[in-house]
Amino acid sequence: MDEEFFKLMEGRAEVIRAYDVSDEEFASLLRDADIVVVRSRRRITRALIDCARCLKVVARAGVGLDNVDVDYARSKGIIVVPVAEASIEAVAELTIGFMISLSRKIPMLSSKMRDGLWCKNEGLGFELKDKTLGIIGLGRIGSRVAELAKAFGMRILAYDPYVDRDAASKMDIEFVDELSDLLRSSDYISIHAPLTEETYHMIGEDELKLMKPTAFLINTARGSIIDEKALAKALREGWIAGAALDVFENEPLENSDLAKLDNVILTPHIGGSTVEAQKLIARILAEKILSYIESSAIGEPDKPTIERECSNSSNA
Ligand code: NAD
Repeated sequence: MDEEFFKLMEGRAEVIRAYDVSDEEFASLLRDADIVVVRSRRRITRALIDCARCLKVVARAGVGLDNVDVDYARSKGIIVVPVAEASIEAVAELTIGFMISLSRKIPMLSSKMRDGLWCKNEGLGFELKDKTLGIIGLGRIGSRVAELAKAFGMRILAYDPYVDRDAASKMDIEFVDELSDLLRSSDYISIHAPLTEETYHMIGEDELKLMKPTAFLINTARGSIIDEKALAKALREGWIAGAALDVFENEPLENSDLAKLDNVILTPHIGGSTVEAQKLIARILAEKILSYIESSAIGEPDKPTIERECSNSSNA
């Protein structure tokens, strides 16, 4: 969390930095907390909620609520506050960076240079201009990626069963009704949908086989949207040309076949990690939390404690 958050909270709340604490320690801290702020890795489970007898707000410093049991929290009267707007630019720019890096083989060539190799002949790449970008999930980030990609002269296809097409059609984007149409026609495919039951492993062997052998797949959304074993096979056997991944089924990524492949770029979930996005998250979160504190009983000596039955605190 950017320091600005702590400055804004000074004198308004007691803030405990529970970075890198064990699950047990976290559960014990949460027991008496009114508000918890989490990023994407810490899971707020039903068991933790049951033990957090004072908890009134779960604030998520970023987008994607798949690490919070939102329905259960809300059923217990706990408010869940995401900060969705802060990392749009950061993730969209990373996506464009991935597209260019894949097309021009920048990481692979740079690594060979460090080994003393001058592989000019292996450096023949592609331009983005006149290529087709398929976007899965045309929400805040997907739309910004579309805008940026258009500036490179790309044609944009989108698959999103839930988006308002009238609003998006003003951006000169072509919609497809079937994911398979997008997979068959795109030179670059970028995922910007949330992780849900419907999107879990939405890209598996069958889908990868539909892609062009020259196509690149980019995922900055959530790891489990892609079946990683199938993707490793597709990259090894040349079903597709390459992939760039910022998110993984299990984070941090360990002992993965993906790390052994030359045609994949891997980054450690840094989509929202820019100075600008982190400052914006800190400011928006502090504003939301302070406005909640001011409008509620938090901080008053006779504030009511919510009694919840603590079932299993070890399942954190
Ligand atoms: P958003 O809610 O604005 O957009 C998501 C879009 O996906 C919506 O338009 C929705 O209709 C669409 N969608 C839902 N189900 C779909 C399906 N089955 N098929 C196709 N489209 C579907 O979210 P956003 O702010 O654009 O963020 C997108 C995702 O990016 C987040 O859910 C989060 O997982 C991820 N994210 C990652 C990072 C990172 O650090 N890598 C940072 C921010 C966000």
